[in-house]
Amino acid sequence: MTHNSNKVITRFAPSPTGALHIGSARTALFNFIFAKQNKGKFILRIEDTDKERSKKEYEKDILDGLQWLGIEHDEIYYQSKREDIYEKYIQPLLEKEIIYFSPPEEEEKKEGILRFKNPNKKITFNDEVRGDITFDTTELGDFAIARDKQTPLYHLAVVIDDHEMGITDVIRGEDHISNTPRQILLQEAIGASRPRYTHIPLILAPDRTKLSKRTNATAILDYKKEGYLPVALINFMTLLGWSPQVKTENRQPITDNKQQITDDVDDGIFSADELVKRFSVSAIQKGGAIFDINKLRFINREHLKKIPFERLKAEIELFLPSEMRKMTPQAHSVLIQVIMEKIDVFSDIEALYKAGEFTYFWEQPTYTVEALFWKEEKDSATLAENIDKLVQLLSEISQEQFTADVVKKHIWSYATERGRGSVLWPFRFALSGKEKSPDPFVIAEILGKEETIRRLEYAREKLF
Ligand code: GLU
Repeated sequence: MTHNSNKVITRFAPSPTGALHIGSARTALFNFIFAKQNKGKFILRIEDTDKERSKKEYEKDILDGLQWLGIEHDEIYYQSKREDIYEKYIQPLLEKEIIYFSPPEEEEKKEGILRFKNPNKKITFNDEVRGDITFDTTELGDFAIARDKQTPLYHLAVVIDDHEMGITDVIRGEDHISNTPRQILLQEAIGASRPRYTHIPLILAPDRTKLSKRTNATAILDYKKEGYLPVALINFMTLLGWSPQVKTENRQPITDNKQQITDDVDDGIFSADELVKRFSVSAIQKGGAIFDINKLRFINREHLKKIPFERLKAEIELFLPSEMRKMTPQAHSVLIQVIMEKIDVFSDIEALYKAGEFTYFWEQPTYTVEALFWKEEKDSATLAENIDKLVQLLSEISQEQFTADVVKKHIWSYATERGRGSVLWPFRFALSGKEKSPDPFVIAEILGKEETIRRLEYAREKLF
């Protein structure tokens, strides 16, 4: 063994028998952060000894998912490539008769299975989340530990590898609590020291049932496809089982957006660096962690707000339907702001688009003439007069200067004089055909001078 026992070494040990899901990604994250906080090492161990169920595509999914989340390992190992190491441990155990072939006559043919002679005793171990846990191992019987001298089964492979790799901290899902006594018996059999155990609570669906692939999105790369930000997902995952004790006085600014910093203190929004500083494995609670997609959406939105505009623009571009890509750069910038007010996650753009939320940006909206009137107003002549005046005022602005600000300045005193609702409501409605939409100045800028005037004239014609 080559490890330095003072150094914290953690591991994430996925079996490549399925995609990386939110539960296992959280396990990886906690191990990663804990190692970082202690200037230790984080090992990725692919537990691919089950040849039938392990698949290369799942292994790729796991690696890609971790990379996307920014969970970087210091070392990677594959159990399938460690047969010689396993044999070095299994052979002496056989010689010492701590393990045996079952049925015994199969030893020569190597067709049996290797079993561990259970010393049948009580095992007590400390768990960082749950405290002392005691198991009577008698009921486990002589459990199977290897298929042959080179192929340990799950428990023995974990124990040998944790020992060989100098793992100091085993942080994993609480579904592994019942595996721990077996693993401790095996540690004692090979003379390995016991790591510290932290079993983290399972993630539950909002109705407190098990989180399932069918009813809840769980695969990490699906979140990537939907346009969630990796930092938002990481932030969300840390809050599954942990909550920050807010210490305002020690906080260091982490972005140059001062406003955001004060907001962070109360709502649990953290950058990746800040999470490494703040997150505490020892503060994990034992109650089940509830998966709340709305919380994830909220967190994602908060992180979206921190992205510099140019980057946001580039990212949103990727999610825009083709019609919406044809706009002028100027209109695009305004559109991005409009979109940003409505979305939590980039994939919302498509849903809003499908619901017709943006169609008025490139299509004349249809509506009934009554909708053009502000509140109780009914007088077509007055409305016609207002629209005519709007057209006249807007015609005075040059095409190049046709921005939201300039449009607003140009019509503001007229609108104030005639009543803002009476002028701005029909202006906005003529442009968007919607009860709720951005203000008319912004839409006018997106549409451009010509189209804005055209839509006002269309409204005017409808009046009589
Ligand atoms: N390979 C195991 C699994 O995928 C994890 C082993 C461990 O963390 O001890 O569940």
